[in-house]
Amino acid sequence: MTEIVNFDSLGLAPELLKALTDSGYTTPTPIQAQAIPVALAGGDLMAGAQTGTGKTAAFALPLLQKLLPFANNGASPAKHPVRALILTPTRELAIQVEESVRAYAKHTPLRSLVVYGGVDIRTQTPHLKTGIEVLVATPGRLLDHIEQKTVQLNQVQMLVLDEADRMLDMGFMPDLKRILALLPKQRQNLMFSATFSNDIKKLADDFLTNPQLIEVARSNATNDNVTQKVYSVAQSDKEALLIQLLKAAEAKQVIIFTKTKITASRLSRSLEREGLAADAIHGDKTQQERIKALDAFKAGTITALVATDVAARGLDISELPMVINYEIPSAPEDYVHRIGRTGRAGASGIAISFVSPEEEKYMVEIEKLIKRQITKEIVEIEKPVARTRSASSSSKPSAHKSTSSTANQEATATKRTPYKKKASDPWFDKPYEAVVAAQQQVAVRSSSTRKAPVAALLGGLVLNK
Ligand code: AMP
Repeated sequence: MTEIVNFDSLGLAPELLKALTDSGYTTPTPIQAQAIPVALAGGDLMAGAQTGTGKTAAFALPLLQKLLPFANNGASPAKHPVRALILTPTRELAIQVEESVRAYAKHTPLRSLVVYGGVDIRTQTPHLKTGIEVLVATPGRLLDHIEQKTVQLNQVQMLVLDEADRMLDMGFMPDLKRILALLPKQRQNLMFSATFSNDIKKLADDFLTNPQLIEVARSNATNDNVTQKVYSVAQSDKEALLIQLLKAAEAKQVIIFTKTKITASRLSRSLEREGLAADAIHGDKTQQERIKALDAFKAGTITALVATDVAARGLDISELPMVINYEIPSAPEDYVHRIGRTGRAGASGIAISFVSPEEEKYMVEIEKLIKRQITKEIVEIEKPVARTRSASSSSKPSAHKSTSSTANQEATATKRTPYKKKASDPWFDKPYEAVVAAQQQVAVRSSSTRKAPVAALLGGLVLNK
């Protein structure tokens, strides 16, 4: 589209440009180049952009610029009413969005705050009372504050719905309706969504006024920077394969997705038993536990973070090199969200999906959504003879028949990848040094291990339970 070379040409205020320079950003990402001028012009916006495209700055920068005329250093809370409201589906995303807003506003007197559930509401109230212009919130906790009259929204002139598709998936529609009914009618609305379902279009029809539609990538498209791989593997072999991959890769940061909280916890414990620095992040963990795990992951003391979809939503870990789908999501959009954790802001990454015969039907739906077929590969697993208890949530023998289309596809598309073979797999060529260096020395296994090609196991291995 338009050729934008730098942020100056977008008409942003010097205070914001300075903050961008501090952040080390020189060139706007495509969503920023397109959304910022529209938002600065004052119109409503419906933007299709995945996490990782730089969408936070795409709404935060114009929002701050619009509030600059109201920025002041007055001590009275009345001088700092909430003028912009940013709603996000999860606490993690809320925290990260507010951190970005604060970073971009650092050379202005504008104040921001984040409120989310799972922590004592009383700890948030004093901060709200001091007065803040930009409030980032999860819907439920915002409603709690509204009920307790600890927040006033009658001066809100800008509303951002971030990851709107996820908010609908998580059942926030009634909460959203209640909140939106309390906002002044005269306001600017910016809606961001990774996918454009019919429900999202309806939400846009209901709440946006003549929105300009911006899409940086085809809706539901996956990021081209991410190499996608599918390994066919029996459910019972997934744990062994995961351990083998992680040990071989010595990857510094890998997010591993499971479908359930219980599998996430069990798997993380199994990895720890194998000497891998792992932790789990899911809805049953307290906010403190989640923050602790996330900080450790960011700092590199934990290398494998096992996560459920909800918990991982909104995680922004720059240059995450690898995502592993230990279990395939039944909602194909979740696949797009999951692999959006890697290959962010131009960095490359790899997303590996472990697909059992039972999960092939989900993969078919995913391939339809992303309009791309991913070649299924078979890797050789070297399993220790004595296995530890499997973290698999499903332990049915793999007697299941593939759906016919998948089976056909597999017959033509499956290729065998002897995982041990050096440099035959593009993964070995990835530019992340720590990973690449380690992968070159895939360990030679001791004689107490046996090789088990997954293909041979697909037809009904008796599983360990
Ligand atoms: P987001 O999609 O907003 O979660 O952003 C994804 C990542 O890109 C974050 O780590 C941002 O800090 C980073 N980022 C945002 N804008 C830029 C930019 N213009 N140049 C480089 N990195 C950016």
